Amino acid sequence: MNYDENNIFAKILRGEIPCKKIYEDDYVLSFHDINPQKKIHALIIPKGKYINLDDFSKNASEKEIIGFVKGISIVAKKLGISSDIARGYRTLSNISEHGGQEVPHLHFHIFGGENVGKMVQ
Ligand code: 5GP
Repeated sequence: MNYDENNIFAKILRGEIPCKKIYEDDYVLSFHDINPQKKIHALIIPKGKYINLDDFSKNASEKEIIGFVKGISIVAKKLGISSDIARGYRTLSNISEHGGQEVPHLHFHIFGGENVGKMVQ
């Protein structure tokens, strides 16, 4: 599967579609999910063109991988939900068909602001 340049997150990265931005640096962009499933529901995506976590693990540079992982904690802290200042949160990444991935650009969901409940429904 090739990366789809017209997926919705690629358009957000190019500034063609607006988003409610939370954080941005050289490696990541984070913004609020358009259809929140919990009190806080953010998304974080790498700036590079990666379809999912498998693609990212295989093809991203170490700098990109480190930047992405650190980005998750930076965003959680900015949202006031990180475990050092508050009560924590959940990250989740859907990967391909059985994972239920809808947008084919790697993203982690960040859920918090309340007890987010059972791990898998
Ligand atoms: P997936 O099912 O691929 O893991 O999740 C895709 C997520 O992207 C969904 O939670 C959906 O609400 C969110 N989403 C889809 N289109 C947009 C959009 O245009 N803007 C934002 N902010 N989120 C979107």
